[in-house]
Amino acid sequence: MRAEKQKVVLVGTGFVGMSFAYALLNQNVCNELALIDINKKKATGEAMDLNHGLPFSNSHMKIYAADYDTCVDADIVVIAAGVAQKQGETRPDLLKRNTEVFKSIISPIVESGFSGIFLVATNPVDVMTHVVKTLSGFPKERVIGSGTTLDTARLRFLLGEYFDIDPKNVHAYVIGEHGDTEFVPWSQAMIGTKPVELIASEWGDQFKKEEMDAISDKVKNAAYEIIESKNSTYYGIGMSLVRIVKAILKNENSILTVSTYLEGEYNQSDVYAGVPAVVGRQGIVEHLNLRLTPDEERTFIKSCETLKMYYKETGL
Ligand code: NAD
Repeated sequence: MRAEKQKVVLVGTGFVGMSFAYALLNQNVCNELALIDINKKKATGEAMDLNHGLPFSNSHMKIYAADYDTCVDADIVVIAAGVAQKQGETRPDLLKRNTEVFKSIISPIVESGFSGIFLVATNPVDVMTHVVKTLSGFPKERVIGSGTTLDTARLRFLLGEYFDIDPKNVHAYVIGEHGDTEFVPWSQAMIGTKPVELIASEWGDQFKKEEMDAISDKVKNAAYEIIESKNSTYYGIGMSLVRIVKAILKNENSILTVSTYLEGEYNQSDVYAGVPAVVGRQGIVEHLNLRLTPDEERTFIKSCETLKMYYKETGL
């Protein structure tokens, strides 16, 4: 007897899309994966290649290249189509080109009768997620961006190294824009259940605030650093996307710093930004609503203002 169908459609079979697909295959998260790309030949080759790994994987998946009508019975459509950030190119520079790409993608998905959840990875991700909400007319709960999930993973990894603690026991977030105005609200950073700020006061001279600042700078600049050395980043985002897809399909109600539409939370409205939210089968279940310090709240508002400005540049 076949298990209940859990179907994911991936639009964009480039580095990010295929890193996601490969991680999906290895983590047994869904049992059907359809690949769509403007370059159908590439999508077909990628499906063949993935299928040849099936005998060695835990997953029992149907994997195939498809057209947009396949979205009709999909649970999630993941969008990683677009143009990758070039060396020295800012995320806003990508905006106009990617908005045009999205116009050609979202309408056939909606026309297919798709009624699941959109998950967006294309940069600038918060703005592109807003674009998907506008173009699709879907409710905010069902249009999600990868947001600062990758940045938060980078932060947890680096804090884990600094404190010599398993990153799984590091509870800290990067919030705001996935980009230059993102930041770490240190008042919310914990090792286990112990606030980093309390550890700082106990460590005295041993604890260096500058080193925490260096860590948040390293997180913020990670994409630029990786792009400089290998042209693009994809494994980390691929695994972040699988993490979000798993939270949705398994109805985990996991807290993830996805990009979500704010309607009054943190005194912000009509903007997508990365904040910790509960993610489950219906998409965004609720926001965690962190109690930020006044300084952190100001930094968050600044980040949201930047995103609102970028969104205006889409002309939507
Ligand atoms: P890529 O160039 O390797 O892949 C893009 C794919 O999109 C290509 O296969 C291309 O054929 C396809 N495509 C282009 N136009 C299309 C259209 N109209 N319809 C369907 N498919 C189309 O790029 P990549 O390295 O995979 O990056 C993809 C996106 O992911 C970029 O915007 C990049 O900046 C972003 N990204 C996001 C994060 C994050 O944290 N959110 C991290 C890394 C990269």
